[in-house]
Amino acid sequence: MYPASFDYHTPGSVQEAISLLGKLRDDAKLLAGGHSLIPMMKLRLAQPKHLIDLRKVPGLAGIREDGGSIALGAMTTHWQVESSKLLQAKIPVVSDAAGMIGDPQVRNLGTIGGSLAHADPAADMPAVMIALGVEFVIEGARGRRTVKVDDFFKGLMMTAVGPDEILVEIRVPVPPAGSGAAYLKFPHPASRFAVVGVCAALTVDGKGICTKAGVGVTGAGTKAVRAKGVEAGLAGKALDQAAIEAAAAKAADGVDVQADLQGSAEYKSHLLRVHARRAIEAALGRAKGGK
Ligand SMILES: Cc1cc2nc3c(=O)[nH]c(=O)nc-3n(C[C@H](O)[C@H](O)[C@H](O)COP(=O)(O)OP(=O)(O)OC[C@H]3O[C@@H](n4cnc5c(N)ncnc54)[C@H](O)[C@@H]3O)c2cc1C
Repeated sequence: MYPASFDYHTPGSVQEAISLLGKLRDDAKLLAGGHSLIPMMKLRLAQPKHLIDLRKVPGLAGIREDGGSIALGAMTTHWQVESSKLLQAKIPVVSDAAGMIGDPQVRNLGTIGGSLAHADPAADMPAVMIALGVEFVIEGARGRRTVKVDDFFKGLMMTAVGPDEILVEIRVPVPPAGSGAAYLKFPHPASRFAVVGVCAALTVDGKGICTKAGVGVTGAGTKAVRAKGVEAGLAGKALDQAAIEAAAAKAADGVDVQADLQGSAEYKSHLLRVHARRAIEAALGRAKGGK
């Protein structure tokens, strides 16, 4: 299958890419790793007349510590995220999740910014970003703005990034001592996309009380969402097995679980509850100093 013909642009700066977007408007698409866009173009689900390739734009890739956050450039590949020593030491769940994406080819070319801007309802990273409470740095003709994760995912493959804007950076807060996070998914056997995926991020105090809980779920509906019922069931509680199970039982509450080719809404709700329990247990183990 071949895509429809298009013109190809290689801007040398973010400003140049933004001015191309402003000029070409709806006829243009940004190209990052191409591992979602190119398949869609081959299937003719997307037929942009212009592709604006971000791969030669300097400064969009890389991982650095900045104050209390780790900043991930949008063009950082899944493999760079997976293998980052900084992330593995400070926020290992981000590396873990990147390592669960697709296969080596997908991870070598696909980018974290492309994945988050594309907002596939079965993508892994959105759940992790929700649980960790990240911020997105978006640049357009009017300058830079910052969007909190709860305002970022708008709907099926829709985000807060405007048609004439570029996602440039994701800022992940470094959790305090006593924190741990884990992402678990039930992968589709062929693509490895999440049939469902759950990320739990917890902070516990010296007495074992949960002082902060973030839980994100993906795969279940049209977009990744915060599992507010689970979070409410964890925060302020001593996390014994009964509390964990009661919280995890709320994993599908308030989530618009959709039946699809992978399973019924009941089946996916069940998977959500099971994976929520396992993710909370693993996150708690890490918060208490486990690996
Ligand atoms: C076989 C296969 C298996 C996969 N398995 C998984 C999986 O298990 N889990 C998972 O999460 N994903 C999976 N993916 C998707 C993969 O992670 C993609 O790489 C990712 O979704 C898109 O990233 P990309 O860099 O390839 O973006 P592209 O395909 O280049 O772009 C995707 C969309 O985002 C836009 N875009 C890209 N970058 C930006 C930016 N900086 N600012 C604004 N808009 C931007 C593009 O215009 C386009 O609309 C799989 C893909 C394939 C082909």
